[in-house]
Amino acid sequence: MDSKKEVVLILSGGLDSSTLLYKLLDEGKDVTALSFNYGQKASIEIERASEICKMNDVNHFVFDIQNIVDLLSSSLTDKDNDNVQEPINTVVPSRNTILLELATAFAISNEKQEVYYGAIKADIGDYPDTTPEFLKQINELNKVNNYEYIPICAPFINTDKKDVVKEALKLGVPIEKTWSCYVNNDGTPCGECFSCRSRIKAIEEAKKELGMD
Ligand SMILES: [Zn+2]
Repeated sequence: MDSKKEVVLILSGGLDSSTLLYKLLDEGKDVTALSFNYGQKASIEIERASEICKMNDVNHFVFDIQNIVDLLSSSLTDKDNDNVQEPINTVVPSRNTILLELATAFAISNEKQEVYYGAIKADIGDYPDTTPEFLKQINELNKVNNYEYIPICAPFINTDKKDVVKEALKLGVPIEKTWSCYVNNDGTPCGECFSCRSRIKAIEEAKKELGMD
C-alpha cells in the first residue's frame, strides 16, 4: 500500500489556506499545519487555525517569531498604521519568502515531502509574493539552497477568490470559523478593510453562482 504523502501547510486561519487544508485532506495527504505569529495585529487568526486543525485531527504547530516584527513595516503589523484599504499598505515585506523558507526548513527537518501555501489569484492588485512568477522563482531557490529539493506548491495560485469559496462550500470548510479581517481581533470582523471586502464579495458571488443566495 502506498504510504500517504506527508506535507506541510502554512495555515493562517484565513479562508484560502483553510480551504487548501480541506483540499489536501480530501486528496488523502498527511498534513502538518504551521502557523506563525509574526506580530500581526489580528492574531485571532492563529486561534482559528488551531480550532480548524482540532476539528480535523491535524497536527498543528504555532511558531512565535514576533521578535521580527520590527523588521516588517506594514499596516498589518504597525500599531500606528491603520491603512488597510489599499492592498499595497498591507504587504508585509518579504513575508511569504520568510515563512515559506521556515516551512521548508521544517519539512527537511521532519522528513516531509512538500510545502503548501494558500496563494490565490488576486482580484484587485497583486501581492508580489503570491504570483506564479514568485512561485517559480522560490522553487528555483529551493532547488539550490539545500541538499534536497522540497517543492513549494500553491494549487490556488490561478484561482480567484470566488472559486476558492466555491471549493470551500463543496469541501465543507467551516467558513464562519476562518478569519480574514486585518483590523479587529475580537471575533467580529470589521467588514470594511480590504480583506473583509474581498471576502464578502467572493462569498456573495460564489453563493449566487451556486444558487445558494
Ligand atoms: Zn476587516
